[in-house]
Amino acid sequence: MSNCEHLSRDALAEHQLQRLHVLLGQVLATNAFYRQKLNAAGIAQAADIAALTDLARLPFTTRAELSADQVAHPPYGTNLTYPPECYTRIHQTSGTTGQRLRWLDTAASWGWWGRCWAQVYRAAGVSNRDRIFFAFSFGPFIGFWSGHQGASHIGALIVPGGGMSSAQRLDAIVENEITVVVSTPTYALHLGEVARERGLELAASSVHTTIHAGEPGANLPATRAQLERTWGARCSDHAGATEVGAWGFDCHQQAGLHLNEGEFICEVVDPQSGAPADEGELVITNLGRTGMPVIRYRTGDRVALNRTPCVCGRRFQRLRGGVIGRLDDALLIRGVVVYPSAIENIVRQFPAVTEFAVDIHRRQALDELEVRLELDGQANDTADQVAGALAHRLGLRAAIQIAAPDTLPRFELKARRFTDHRSNP
Ligand SMILES: [Zn+2]
Repeated sequence: MSNCEHLSRDALAEHQLQRLHVLLGQVLATNAFYRQKLNAAGIAQAADIAALTDLARLPFTTRAELSADQVAHPPYGTNLTYPPECYTRIHQTSGTTGQRLRWLDTAASWGWWGRCWAQVYRAAGVSNRDRIFFAFSFGPFIGFWSGHQGASHIGALIVPGGGMSSAQRLDAIVENEITVVVSTPTYALHLGEVARERGLELAASSVHTTIHAGEPGANLPATRAQLERTWGARCSDHAGATEVGAWGFDCHQQAGLHLNEGEFICEVVDPQSGAPADEGELVITNLGRTGMPVIRYRTGDRVALNRTPCVCGRRFQRLRGGVIGRLDDALLIRGVVVYPSAIENIVRQFPAVTEFAVDIHRRQALDELEVRLELDGQANDTADQVAGALAHRLGLRAAIQIAAPDTLPRFELKARRFTDHRSNP
């Protein structure tokens, strides 16, 4: 299969349009959810979208709509193109941003997930010569299952790390001479801490690449630097979502997340007006998951588009700094809009910080930002330096507290380090 990475922009648009026509033809025929939505928008046949410039005629799809549809038509809703017996896998979203969504795949669309992940691996320089360890408890969340499927596509040796403690995972990495570790960025840093406690020098292990999924972070320069220092390995970011697919990957240039435009039509829109924008909300249409697709889906991810060609030669557009944050994660603190990722990028620049947590309170009508730090070794002047960097870079005064070792929560998936205690922020 051609993965379209080097097609000219015109040829890519033609490829996307052809696949969109196939998708629209199928959902208009048999998918109750999208037939109703598209008909209501005046789209009766695929040919009504004559060019990609007509894309805006297709209505947006929101997470709230999909949730409401599953509540009204349990358990899977009406966004199903085929009869129930055609589906072979189910996964669900983690529910950190509201009602869980259940999502079905057919054997064909599961193969598509694997191909999308194969592209993530190839771009990271991972091949059939590699041994890939998944530091993850395999549950209903899709991310690492699909990474697992992708690993079988490229013919790598798969070593699952479910049902293990962190120490057992480290043993498995060393004993199997693992070369690639797949985990969330948070958990990779946690494994680094456990390794240090056990006197294990991870940077001296056979791991040459870490690939991070499940949450953003690996595209934050400070977090990436910390990951690469910890593992002595090249760190690669990946982005995807249960209801969308594995849509983003890092190339060797590490110069922003590439959008997989061979398999997805990606738009960036102003979150208020819905008009095209260079920075705003990522909107995605997947082209290879006909059984349960999303068309112009508002991901809620805040991104900044980079249209300049990448040195790697791929023509796919990139996102500056990966996913900057969730639109609903933006914090308004004393009149300043701050994304948690901006705070993380500053705190992670201090190697002495092993874990952190951020709380926002309102006391006597004033917003207060409180940052708790766990430090490696004895407390030094790191607290003052972090406070200084937050004030200098974000214009935010923060109360810094030092937490005792191993008292802040560790996360395997979807780290929650930010808590807004204000009733009406
Ligand atoms: Zn590139």
